[in-house]
Amino acid sequence: MKITGIETFVCHARMRNWIFVKVVTDQPGLVGWGEATLEWHTRAVLGAIEDLAPLVVGQDPRRIEHLWQMMYRQHFWHGHGIVRSTAISGIDIALWDIAGKLAGVPCSQLWGGPVRDWIRTYCHLGGGRMEEFYETPVEEAGRFADLARQAVEEGFTAIKAMAVPPTMPIEGLRPLRAAEAAVRAMRDAVGEQVDLMVDCHARPSPAMGLRFGKALDPYGLYFLEEPCWPESIDGLAMINRTIAAPVATGERITEPAYFQKLFAARACEVCQLDVTHCSGLSGARRVAALAEAHRIALAPHNPQGPVSTAATLEFGFSQPSFVICETVHADVPWRDEVAQTGYTLEPAGRLVRPNRNPGLGVSVNEAEVRKHPFQQELPQRVFHGDGSVGDW
Ligand SMILES: [Mg+2]
Repeated sequence: MKITGIETFVCHARMRNWIFVKVVTDQPGLVGWGEATLEWHTRAVLGAIEDLAPLVVGQDPRRIEHLWQMMYRQHFWHGHGIVRSTAISGIDIALWDIAGKLAGVPCSQLWGGPVRDWIRTYCHLGGGRMEEFYETPVEEAGRFADLARQAVEEGFTAIKAMAVPPTMPIEGLRPLRAAEAAVRAMRDAVGEQVDLMVDCHARPSPAMGLRFGKALDPYGLYFLEEPCWPESIDGLAMINRTIAAPVATGERITEPAYFQKLFAARACEVCQLDVTHCSGLSGARRVAALAEAHRIALAPHNPQGPVSTAATLEFGFSQPSFVICETVHADVPWRDEVAQTGYTLEPAGRLVRPNRNPGLGVSVNEAEVRKHPFQQELPQRVFHGDGSVGDW
């Protein structure tokens, strides 16, 4: 059996261009689907997939680990830069899809699953509509409350908001009080039975991240995400040691060795690896083993397209430390038309029951994808009041 080609499909979904990867084999009808979405780097990832193709075309798709080793290690440069690791992810996910289809079982079963009956999902404030999640000003606490209430009405039991504004390395009370008011408004709106998460988007310095963490602690966050740059392991560890809310990070990390350092420093309690960025399901399984050894929970990053979600769920059904899956459902109204999936979603509680189809159980509608060709992603840039560059 041989891989005969790797095809890429770009589907513009407003905030992101979804990149779907199709690995084609010489067996009639046997293809695998992966996803390699990397916003603002769409053309680079497409090029990286083209550069990787000579390593895998002509090879046996069943030798997934061997192919992963080649893609990660060959031609001198290792595969952990964000563009190449995302490109590897797209191909690796598709190879696992093929493996499941060959075995006639969902991917989670290849890895000894399922380990649970259902997976809980959470949503972004506004369900993934970029204006509401990314652009609701932190000063508008009432809007945060309304959107949180709406998510609960839609069945969610866990909601994430970007309730921490961009700040300079040191600022005074104003941003802290605004964040506190927004989170208090959401807590008052939904009560204590609903879990709230705040994504700081690595906007704060470690010093400010600590102050935000302390200010928000009374509201019992399920986790506090990226309270400072992921590069600052000591900053994350200091915050994680000091506040009660578990620190979450990992969506921008691609390299098993870096995750190992993060875990060894106890810089987080929640690992947000992204299966479309950390060299695929083969990379994610390595990181999950490291996390489990440190008793760190898995809550993967997954704001991308439907193949990413299918892969993340298969992974979740095989991982004991998996606690919750990030999802977006309202980013584009035609999301469900682009791909059919094999799992079932229970609207009450937004719980996902296992996929019963082989592989990832996902099939991409190529004709639908073609209706949404590449468009340049909208710029998302932050400048502080004095004109200096901030983090989005
Ligand atoms: Mg995040």
